[in-house]
Amino acid sequence: MTIETILFVAHTEEDGSLGRAALECLTGAVELHRQIAGASLVAGVIGVDATAAAVAISGCGASKLFAVSGPEFAMSRYASDTAALDSICRTSGATIIVAPATSRFNRAVPGAAQRIGGKIDTHVGGFLVNGAEVTIQRGYYRQRMIATLTRAARPWFVTIDAGLFPKFEGAAANTPVESLTVATSDAFNRTKVVGYRAPEADAQTIRPDANLLFVAGVGWTKKQADGQVHLTEAADIILGFLDKSKASLGSSKSLVDQSTEGHNVFSFMSHLNQVGQTGATPRHAKGLSACCHGEEPHVVGWRFIGERRAINLDANCGWAQGKTDVLYIADAFALVKKVGELL
Ligand SMILES: Cc1cc2nc3c(=O)[nH]c(=O)nc-3n(C[C@H](O)[C@H](O)[C@H](O)COP(=O)(O)OP(=O)(O)OC[C@H]3O[C@@H](n4cnc5c(N)ncnc54)[C@H](O)[C@@H]3O)c2cc1C
Repeated sequence: MTIETILFVAHTEEDGSLGRAALECLTGAVELHRQIAGASLVAGVIGVDATAAAVAISGCGASKLFAVSGPEFAMSRYASDTAALDSICRTSGATIIVAPATSRFNRAVPGAAQRIGGKIDTHVGGFLVNGAEVTIQRGYYRQRMIATLTRAARPWFVTIDAGLFPKFEGAAANTPVESLTVATSDAFNRTKVVGYRAPEADAQTIRPDANLLFVAGVGWTKKQADGQVHLTEAADIILGFLDKSKASLGSSKSLVDQSTEGHNVFSFMSHLNQVGQTGATPRHAKGLSACCHGEEPHVVGWRFIGERRAINLDANCGWAQGKTDVLYIADAFALVKKVGELL
């Protein structure tokens, strides 16, 4: 039986602290440590001043803490990140390496696994422990199938998706941090992050960190009781609600498809907002759908939405077939406008 050494490994963010995904992943690693019989926990951090970030999480129960620090480890770069990961993994003697599935680590961790001769499972969505046996869960085919699998090979790398665990919180302990020296190479100079390009916060309607997902369907563009379409009013109501609630905006496929068919639709949404079988499966604590029918190919995308509510004029819509917790039979124009005003 392998006595597991679990290594939690993370990189710092621009401000030097560990980001949300890393702290959530740490909770997962701590939980894994608690559940696997006889396992030990160690942690490693990469960043400009990784020691400070390692001290900040020293209350996690790790028996050893490692840091790879320096300006060359500030930015996301495959060469420097894999070299740092390689050093931490080998020094720690880890058998299971748990890392957050951030865009930076999604590139580097598989490379480190390859260098060390380990195996990797990415985008892990949960785990189960039975004594010393660990099984992980992972979605396939756009999360429509969940596989439960285990591996005998070590070291075993797993990258954990965000949104699965609460953020780790704990007072610092006295565990000393061991600084590791990683030899720099010419490859470190080949790639530089020169900046970020992102839409203005207000222009960004997809907000993965939002508590609420607000999903708009094609009903917003349909003729209403007065026999007219009300696109401008619909856009104002949707944007007004998003502004007040800071919700993330989702869409049904039919609504975003309309733009490719030459109809007038909303400039603030694109296919990136589409939720469903051929769209995204976002993770949010709550979801509110308005003017969307709730058909199965759409609703499969709600797999990771905690509490579901929908507004529809039709009491026989798809949502009524057990797909929401609460269904409001109401005019979404009036209801969402009113909620926006109340907010
Ligand atoms: C292979 C395949 C893959 C697919 N993948 C996806 C996918 O990834 N995502 C996806 O969304 N769809 C997908 N679809 C399409 C899906 O089956 C539906 O056609 C689509 O989700 C319907 O969009 P909708 O609910 O916005 O529009 P509709 O079905 O037209 O529903 C509009 C709803 O608005 C309601 N409404 C109208 N006015 C109001 C009002 N004033 N107040 C309240 N309610 C109102 C109506 O009662 C109606 O229920 C897929 C289909 C197939 C075959």
